[in-house]
Amino acid sequence: MKKTVFETPNIESQTIEELSQQLLATSAKLYETNLHLEKVQREREEMLANISHDLRAPITAIRNTVDYLCSGQEISPEDRDSALQLIDRRTKTLENLIQDMYYLFCIEDTSKALDMEIIPVAPFLEEYFFDTLANSRYNGYELHLDLPETLNCNIRIDVQKMIRVLDNLFTNAAKYSEKGSDITLKAQLSPDGQVLQISVIDTGMGIPADALPYIFNRTYTVSSARTPNSATGSGLGLSIVDAIVARLSGTITCESTEGEGSTFCISLPIANF
Ligand code: ADP
Repeated sequence: MKKTVFETPNIESQTIEELSQQLLATSAKLYETNLHLEKVQREREEMLANISHDLRAPITAIRNTVDYLCSGQEISPEDRDSALQLIDRRTKTLENLIQDMYYLFCIEDTSKALDMEIIPVAPFLEEYFFDTLANSRYNGYELHLDLPETLNCNIRIDVQKMIRVLDNLFTNAAKYSEKGSDITLKAQLSPDGQVLQISVIDTGMGIPADALPYIFNRTYTVSSARTPNSATGSGLGLSIVDAIVARLSGTITCESTEGEGSTFCISLPIANF
């Protein structure tokens, strides 16, 4: 029978030192990855809990109203009208929530490619601004465009997704400001000319300092008492903004002072043809 002989590998002590360093680095990385996975898992669980809560509230309202309408009791035409209006409003809430959730899942699915193209910044922002100015949703607000005359650079973006980012920021700027307030779209280059900063600046109610670190989290909403009833959103607007900006290799920050207003600033790398 053939005998297997195990030979002691001839490893220099320096090599052992290097190997144990590598082992340490690898286990540190594994530890970090594990922490990250746990965080993602926790966020997913919180998000599912939030989604089922957010879905349950309008569904319960619709169910109760339908039960009332079908109860056979005498209902005045006025009460019937308000019941139907309530069903209409709550159904719209559900539609928005489901649409935004699906949109967010699609953005975060990195196996789906974005429609990236390199475009000149100034004409893109000017066109966006004048479209927004013409949108009746912003009637009564003072919209401003602040672009340096020398802004002559390109960015690599998915145009439709970038429009969605700006739309969400403008919608919030109007939603959380009094009619008549200023909303400014501003762009500038970083001092080294490598990064474009696009800001949406409002002079509205601002965001409390303790809420600021959490506003881009899917699982977080600043007290709903702050949101005007006529403008309740899905609560996913800023999460969608954050997810799109990340896929465009950019970052977004928010500076805000309660009672004075908010500035959302997107930083994107400059692209060359
Ligand atoms: P929502 O549908 O609640 O507006 P968002 O994700 O768009 O969801 O925003 C999250 C929260 O951040 C909002 O509930 C609101 O309190 C706060 N917020 C967002 N934008 C602004 C803004 N421009 N001014 C004041 N608060 C804002």
